[in-house]
Amino acid sequence: MSSGTFRALVVEEDASGRRVELRDLAVADLPPGEVLVRIAYSTLNYKDGLAVTGKGKILRTSPMAPGIDFAGTVVESASPAYRPGDEVILTGWGVGERYWGGFSQLNRVKAEWLLPLPEGLTLKRAMAIGTAGLTAALCVLALERQGVVPGERELVVTGAAGGVGSMAVALLAQAGFRVVASTGRPNEADYLRGLGATEVIDRATFTNPGRPLERERWAGAVDTVGGATLGGIFRSMAYRGVVAACGNAGGTEFTTSVFPFILRSVQLIGVDSVVVSPDDRRQAWTRLASTLPGDLIDQMTELIPLDAVPAYSEAITNGRIRGRVVIDLNA
Ligand code: NDP
Repeated sequence: MSSGTFRALVVEEDASGRRVELRDLAVADLPPGEVLVRIAYSTLNYKDGLAVTGKGKILRTSPMAPGIDFAGTVVESASPAYRPGDEVILTGWGVGERYWGGFSQLNRVKAEWLLPLPEGLTLKRAMAIGTAGLTAALCVLALERQGVVPGERELVVTGAAGGVGSMAVALLAQAGFRVVASTGRPNEADYLRGLGATEVIDRATFTNPGRPLERERWAGAVDTVGGATLGGIFRSMAYRGVVAACGNAGGTEFTTSVFPFILRSVQLIGVDSVVVSPDDRRQAWTRLASTLPGDLIDQMTELIPLDAVPAYSEAITNGRIRGRVVIDLNA
């Protein structure tokens, strides 16, 4: 990056078609905003995969840099909240959807969208956690707020080998829960046990036909898959069990009976990470920074350069990415 110019992965869509390409741009090309950030790392989330491949309608303007999260250093700031040299992170707020995203060496954003780099984390590890970790932490906090505490009963995480799933398994295990990982990739069993899963089960457990109520097993669930998987989880929720639903990697619609709700007082809680309040964000990041050991974060993380993003986007939308993918904007 020479002074004044920078590189970004840009998606452009017009009457002549759809192009995904690396482009050299000038600072003047960036949208207006209060804080100019030199981005060190971004990450590849499921939503970014949909945005880059065009498999989902994520990008709301064109041309556009995808990337729903980033970590970097403030270059200029019109806000008293930040000064040049400050290390910051950003997740959500429509960045990489409605607003210029993180797959860009520079970005200009609203000060209120940024958080100071949480204490104890490097820029790289903050992005290894990224939106996936934030979402997982919000799910864990949601379960805890509804009274789910470590005990005899197990919790289940679906889509466990993915980004949010891996983070949820690790966070729950670190908090002392007995966490069972549900995956379609039995070859990732050792990886999942390494994150703290006590058992690894086949994801077909939830999509196979079953009775409306089965043996009470789960005190809580973090579901990143949605669809039939989410529908199937309710059958084996224990009395007063709580399901935190945050994903749709396996589908958007689900069917269940009312019995888990009216006979077992089961609760379903939706979790959003995009416009969640600054207070909840801070609480979640404090939890993440204080509970996840650095080497555990590194075990879940693969580092790639910006030009590898299109291929990895195809892979993440096909459920073939393990853990977290961090993008090094300077590689
Ligand atoms: P990943 O692709 O990393 O993880 C998704 C995992 O789901 C896969 O690894 C796979 O796990 C499982 N999976 C994928 N396809 C299917 C399928 N057809 N049927 C059953 N299981 C499947 O994505 P992320 O971790 O980035 O995101 C996970 C989900 O959470 C996405 O739907 C995403 O949109 C959502 N999300 C929501 C947020 C929010 O604010 N609510 C924020 C971030 C993510 P395995 O191989 O282990 O079975």
